[in-house]
Amino acid sequence: MSNNTAITPESYPMKGGDSTYSYAKNSSFQKSATNIAKSMIDEAITDYLDIKDFSSASLNNKFHIADLGCSVGPNTFISMQNILEAVQQKYQSQLGDQYPHKFPDFQIFFNDHVSNDFNTLFSSLPPERQYFAVGVPGSFHGRLFPNSSLHFVQSSYAVHWLSNLPEELLDKNSPAWNGGRIHYINADDEVGKAYVAQFAKDMASFLDARAKEIMVGGMMVLIMPSTPNDVPHSRIPSGVMFDLLGSSLMDMAKEELISEAQVDSFNLPLYAASPKEMTELINQNGFFSIVRMELNNLFSCIDSQTTGKSCTMHLRAALEGIIVKHFGSKVIDEVFHRLYEKTQEFSERLESSYKEGTQLVLVLKRKLK
Ligand code: SAH
Repeated sequence: MSNNTAITPESYPMKGGDSTYSYAKNSSFQKSATNIAKSMIDEAITDYLDIKDFSSASLNNKFHIADLGCSVGPNTFISMQNILEAVQQKYQSQLGDQYPHKFPDFQIFFNDHVSNDFNTLFSSLPPERQYFAVGVPGSFHGRLFPNSSLHFVQSSYAVHWLSNLPEELLDKNSPAWNGGRIHYINADDEVGKAYVAQFAKDMASFLDARAKEIMVGGMMVLIMPSTPNDVPHSRIPSGVMFDLLGSSLMDMAKEELISEAQVDSFNLPLYAASPKEMTELINQNGFFSIVRMELNNLFSCIDSQTTGKSCTMHLRAALEGIIVKHFGSKVIDEVFHRLYEKTQEFSERLESSYKEGTQLVLVLKRKLK
């Protein structure tokens, strides 16, 4: 268990509470993501979870589920409930004569950085829940659970957060120096390579820790923003939004509302891996088989008239913490006001980016190596 109670430099929790700009009120993309993923998860549990894979000692009439990077809800409660019901159905279909009189006790572990607003999370736990709730603080890039103690793990919209920014992005003498930009979109190749290397390192430690914690036969679902194979990141919605955010900040630097040096030293610790990259990283780890992998297009079901506004609100809920930390709280309204204006000015560019599927759902099963 983590004994780190300080706010770690790499942690940028979503905006807590339930105010206008909070994550709780502005996570509808993740919510529709959860809905699209739901049917895949149901099918995956029906088709691939085998209660008989687990030894009776490891089950002992309990079933452990973890949500890694759970934030403050409500999405985590919805998806945990879905998983629990799908597992109950599986029990019933596989062990019908003993169930439903004897469903296992479900324990659900809600994990996030220590700085996450766990108070909001726990005060909004569904009162009618059929599980025991546990908070697990700490980074999922390290160990969080005992060996072979988990049956099912989900992580939704979290593993694309890098643990740290590559140092060379801030080194003026490095070819990966990223002055005037805040991400690898439209940046030099070296910048992209530095992000790729950091993501690969983070994913290796994530998979390594999960391989130890998830028992053989256990499953893990990863839902994450992704870039389709061979499509430049500048052509997908998050890429366009980050680019517009970068140019809003540069405009503000030119007007001396913030300094250019502040923009030069700011980079978003986010990486959207392609299905091909994820496949390679999972194969390198070697402890999981990929039982399903799908790219969905979330924007196909979102009203394009309102997307500039909702993309801006969504990005604010997710990035306000990290932007305030770097630029201070005085400029935050101005930053997002300008970003919203840019989404109107460049609405065609934003809308044309909705064509690509950018939500990756990966269903993995822990195998014997
Ligand atoms: N799963 C929720 C929340 C996504 S927001 C949903 O789908 O709606 C992403 C969350 O991941 C944030 O709360 C952030 O703090 C958390 N996160 C990012 N990196 C993390 C890490 N290394 N360890 C634990 N949590 C992390």
